Amino acid sequence: MQTASPFHPLEQPHSGRLLLCASLAVFAAAMVGILLRPLGYLSVFWPANQIVLVLLLRYPRLMRPLGLAALFASFVLADLITGTSLWLSLGFTTANLCGAACGWLFLRKQSQRDLQMEGQYSALLVFFASGMASLASAAIGGPVSVWAFGLSLTQGLLMWWTGEWMNAMMLLPFLLALPSARTAVTAKERRSWALKFLPALAVVGLEITSYMVGNKVGSLVFSLPALLWCALSYRILTTAIITMVVFVTKVIVVSNIVGFIPANVLDVASLRLGITMLLLGPLSVAGAHAARTELLHRMRYQAHHDSLTDVLSRNGFVQASHTLLKRLTHEGNSAAVLMLDLDHFKRVNDNHGHASGDRLLRDVSQLLTASLRPQDVLGRIGGEEFAVVLPTISFEDATAIAERLCQTVRSGQFQTAQDAPLQATLSIGLAYRQALRPGDSLEALLREADLALYQAKAQGRDCAVWTVPS
Ligand code: GH3
Ligand code: MG
Ligand code: MG
Repeated sequence: MQTASPFHPLEQPHSGRLLLCASLAVFAAAMVGILLRPLGYLSVFWPANQIVLVLLLRYPRLMRPLGLAALFASFVLADLITGTSLWLSLGFTTANLCGAACGWLFLRKQSQRDLQMEGQYSALLVFFASGMASLASAAIGGPVSVWAFGLSLTQGLLMWWTGEWMNAMMLLPFLLALPSARTAVTAKERRSWALKFLPALAVVGLEITSYMVGNKVGSLVFSLPALLWCALSYRILTTAIITMVVFVTKVIVVSNIVGFIPANVLDVASLRLGITMLLLGPLSVAGAHAARTELLHRMRYQAHHDSLTDVLSRNGFVQASHTLLKRLTHEGNSAAVLMLDLDHFKRVNDNHGHASGDRLLRDVSQLLTASLRPQDVLGRIGGEEFAVVLPTISFEDATAIAERLCQTVRSGQFQTAQDAPLQATLSIGLAYRQALRPGDSLEALLREADLALYQAKAQGRDCAVWTVPS
């Protein structure tokens, strides 16, 4: 069965290498789980099943007989090496893989955003999917642990289900968010170092306090406010790592106090369920925050950019230029403002259609962007009119750039919507200030450049015109 992975098309490794790496990862994770197993009893921390689930989601090729057999063998090998009987190991492993497969069935069709924990409801989705997966796993693991540890069936089911679910909520968000470390999606807010570290330090402080208070029931939630602060301050992956570390530590510490033994089944199950619910809080906030930040970022971009050409819109250009000119004026620096207008653009629309006009606007915008320096500001301020601010520039360089832009468009190889060759030319008016003064507003400079542009049109177009500064 060939199933498309909803993840980015990560470099899919060669089958043999994938099988080997996946098996090694599952074997190592199973060994970690077994070593954290209280003597003769189920593991406190069992990362292997979540690793299998994420591997299946990312590399659906593993969902074939050979892949599943390799994963199965890795579990069994770890058990046998550490002295578990073969029959017991077969039972445990079937339960583990059954849970992972159930989680895979629930999650495989979800969007990439959700599978990287960046959707508004990603945490809830993982919560429900892992709840179901842990039930499926418990349906097999519960009876097996009755046989293995002499528990009642209810105890066996309860221990397996709550353990699996809690482990999933601790680990899955971290494992799922890992690829997003490669694609830094959200715009980084600028914050001081102190503010960057405060939320994490608050978690550490409250955790230390909770241990000093002596792990009374209430101290389990002491760090929740700081975890929510982290969720609102950091990327998803960072929040997932912090919550994972906090709760894995808690579970290991508490397991030494409460004792994960059959006599304490109800206490342990309620503790695990409590932690599972608790994890939902910071992870949901982090997902909703990431979704909102991304939306704001997109809306801000749309408000400042022209949808046809992708250069700054009039609004974006005015804002960016205002800020730039204010700084240059403060420094007493130089600037040139250019007004650019495509010549006889109406004829392009009339002769070749509106789509050809649009294509020309896009192509000219790209050409202009490529011809300017990174510090220059380019915007489309009207139909076929563009404006440019060239900061910190000599008069000679500014006029040379204006003439070069005319030349670039003149020799540009444009095409109509039907791919027929198309010629275009540009007229430019330029206003220049050697040392900007407070009266030199953007509006005043644009007006001056516009007058020069009129002259360029009057002189026959396809040229740049300026007034020599006194
Ligand atoms: P000139 O050399 O004097 O500047 O002549 P022109 O034809 O370029 O100028 P005019 O102002 O007469 O016409 C501009 C045309 O640009 C008219 C308008 O239909 C067209 N236009 C404005 N916005 C768009 C657009 O987004 N797409 C297309 N295809 N055409 C547009
Ligand atoms: Mg015009
Ligand atoms: Mg024109």
